[in-house]
Amino acid sequence: MIRRLALPADALVLLIGPSGSGKTTFAARHFAPSQVLSSDALREVVADDPNDQRATDDAFALLHEILAMRLRRRRLTVVDATNLEAWARAQLLDVAWRLQRPAAGIVLDVGLATCLERNAARVPRPVPPATIRRQHRWLRDSLASLPSEGFAEVHHLASVDEVDAVRVQPGG
Ligand code: GDP
Ligand code: MG
Repeated sequence: MIRRLALPADALVLLIGPSGSGKTTFAARHFAPSQVLSSDALREVVADDPNDQRATDDAFALLHEILAMRLRRRRLTVVDATNLEAWARAQLLDVAWRLQRPAAGIVLDVGLATCLERNAARVPRPVPPATIRRQHRWLRDSLASLPSEGFAEVHHLASVDEVDAVRVQPGG
């Protein structure tokens, strides 16, 4: 069954999920490239390597700047990062709150086994399996705290099938 997500046209949209949960694929399927801010892509912008963790601080500094510039213009903006830690989400929500824009969370909860399998199939392998296991524990914690973090809406997609069934209606 199709599940329609009607996202406000001026929203901050956080994709939330471990490495391998399908965030980048989901973003490319449902949004225009210009609507998506990716931590991997911005690490590549500053360091020529999307997996260079030493570039993370600079990548997120850029991401926050661009996010504010876009939300000021009321442009829907999707953040493609794991967004699994409450403090990282809080920084992004703070940008939206200051500019009085709504925030939506989309949780890609496809299961640990799926994330591990997809990660193992990637060349080069972006993260070690232990990282994905830790991210999966953070996902469980996130599901508990998301309802009280200030999101206007949280969409919990609890399986690969639920992710596949989504149709996004920006401005709906
Ligand atoms: P991210 O790490 O959360 O950004 O995940 P990606 O979107 O990069 O996806 C990780 C891997 O899983 C990639 O090789 C994708 O091709 C694959 N993948 C993502 N979504 C799906 C899906 O819905 N079905 C299948 N079969 N593979 C997917
Ligand atoms: Mg990705």
